[in-house]
Amino acid sequence: MSKVILITGCSSGLGISLAVQSARAGHRVYATMRNLAKRDALDTAASDAGVSIDVLQLDVQDTVSVDVCVDAVLNDAGRIDVLINNAGAGFVRSTEQASEADVQWVMDVNFMGVVRCVKAVIPHFRKQRSGHVVSISSVGGLVGQPFNEIYCGAKFAVEGYMEAMASYISPSFGINFTVVEPGGITSEFASSVLKQVEETGGMLEDEYLPILQKYVGGSQNRQSGGDIYQTADEVAQVVMGCIASDTPPIRTRTSQWGEAFCGLKTDLDPDGKKLQHHVIAQFLS
Ligand code: NAP
Repeated sequence: MSKVILITGCSSGLGISLAVQSARAGHRVYATMRNLAKRDALDTAASDAGVSIDVLQLDVQDTVSVDVCVDAVLNDAGRIDVLINNAGAGFVRSTEQASEADVQWVMDVNFMGVVRCVKAVIPHFRKQRSGHVVSISSVGGLVGQPFNEIYCGAKFAVEGYMEAMASYISPSFGINFTVVEPGGITSEFASSVLKQVEETGGMLEDEYLPILQKYVGGSQNRQSGGDIYQTADEVAQVVMGCIASDTPPIRTRTSQWGEAFCGLKTDLDPDGKKLQHHVIAQFLS
């Protein structure tokens, strides 16, 4: 069935793959980005794939921009079936090295951005008695990793936020919630993180430096080989499976590496459905 899909963060990486694969699957796609001057890569990918995609401005850090965009889609298409919260940004610094402004920015983009978009679409989903919110989290939303405590904190927040809504909004109003937990994705993401580190004073000379160098050096090796990294197209295929399903998972990893890495937390309940029923039984039955 053709769905109306709204996607955030479509100027690069996974957002482009999600938009193109959604359109290829026959869905009506509203691909959004905060800066429309960056739409060329999406336009080229859509033209190469022979698909048509509507492109709109949406900055997840700006409530007015989110609300205006959601209203525009509703006016144009009459409905929204799927919201994909894809926009996000990485951040690599220890808590001691991060400024309060850094922390607020990471939380704003990665967590508040999701909340703003959900707040905008959920009244329509509730009236429709249907809808699917998909949020691109990370294995870092399940497992804390070195120098990523601020980013992981934001992705853990997304996971808790989505999990809580799945416990009462799903059974009451027929709205599905899915968090997607990729490992590494070959995209602009890592270079944007390094650029952000450089722009905020580079690697600081302190006791963390040798540990950070070990982490960053290892990260470069991990990108050049091994099975941690997937292409954006591979991750998008997993998301397409979730959107197509009548009973989508509440959480899903996107690779065998991710499954193994998170296994200590997820093996007992890989798709989050047992936990959902456990919470409903505890509080709502
Ligand atoms: P990417 O290529 O850096 O894309 C991130 C997208 O988010 C870009 O389109 C960026 O737009 C957008 N964005 C940033 N701030 C925004 C804002 N305020 N409003 C709207 N859009 C904004 O990285 P990616 O790998 O495709 O990341 C997609 C998602 O996957 C993110 O949620 C990320 O956390 C998650 N993820 C990534 C990895 C990885 O290794 N890459 C691993 C696990 C999870 P601009 O071009 O304007 O900056």
